[in-house]
Amino acid sequence: MLRIEKLEKQYRTGDRALRGVSFEIDAGQIVGLIGPSGAGKSTLIRCINRLVEPTVGRIHLKEIEITSLPRAGLRRARRRIGMIFQEYALVERLTVMENVLSGRLGYVPFWRSFTRRYPQADIDKAFALLDRVGLVEHADKRADALSGGQRQRVGIARALEQDPELLLVDEPTASLDPKTSRQIMRLIREICIERTLPTIINIHDVLLAQQFVERIIGLRAGEVVFDGPHAALDEELLTRIYGEEDWTAMRHQAEEDAREEAEVAAFEAAREERLAGMV
Ligand code: ADP
Repeated sequence: MLRIEKLEKQYRTGDRALRGVSFEIDAGQIVGLIGPSGAGKSTLIRCINRLVEPTVGRIHLKEIEITSLPRAGLRRARRRIGMIFQEYALVERLTVMENVLSGRLGYVPFWRSFTRRYPQADIDKAFALLDRVGLVEHADKRADALSGGQRQRVGIARALEQDPELLLVDEPTASLDPKTSRQIMRLIREICIERTLPTIINIHDVLLAQQFVERIIGLRAGEVVFDGPHAALDEELLTRIYGEEDWTAMRHQAEEDAREEAEVAAFEAAREERLAGMV
């Protein structure tokens, strides 16, 4: 379905972000891309739709070789690749519906979506997608009136509006609280399974990745240092991927987050009990 062969990226600054990355993804498979900051995760995701030009190597999506496509062919290929962004990348003053419909345009500049008239079939599809992500009653609201979690749901619906054959997801939960992060990861996972949509999720939070993604690829300094089931990721491997210091810090942070969440939940439960006692 997606085949990446010996991919390398050297930026003009001399940074070698990818050093011979190879792997394949089958139809319907979800891959979690983990690794410390600077490992090359974003570069890899962006090479796949050529928002970043790889220096060496080949990428095949089904029958087409993305890496050799000329401009027009690349535009067509990008319509087959949906992308979900960390900061949602919505047009704040457009409505939720208009943002979802703009997914039809692939990667053309957003100002075109102001003047564009959409066929009824696209509008019907956008409604169905908004229903699927639980936002149908917000269709006419402006994007800037939504919460972070709701915005990311719009981002998901927009990526699906173009009926992608591959989904790239770049740090989808980086700006969200732990509970909303889990809801968003669960939603992405469910949708990918429903559509047998191959998906790569760049995700810094390894515990979240392990919870929702079966296959994990670990990058370190531009190289694949792990590719396997999440259950095989033990302390030793995680230390190898993240380095001793980073991994210990991440574990402590996760423990602290869990403690904080449990406290909030206990507080809310106690308040509800008190309220119930008052009626
Ligand atoms: P990650 O997503 O894992 O944090 P990135 O792909 O952002 O990693 O970065 C990988 C390496 O490439 C880092 O050393 C980073 O400094 C470098 N890099 C990323 N983007 C650019 C750029 N536009 N120009 C130069 N170097 C870059």
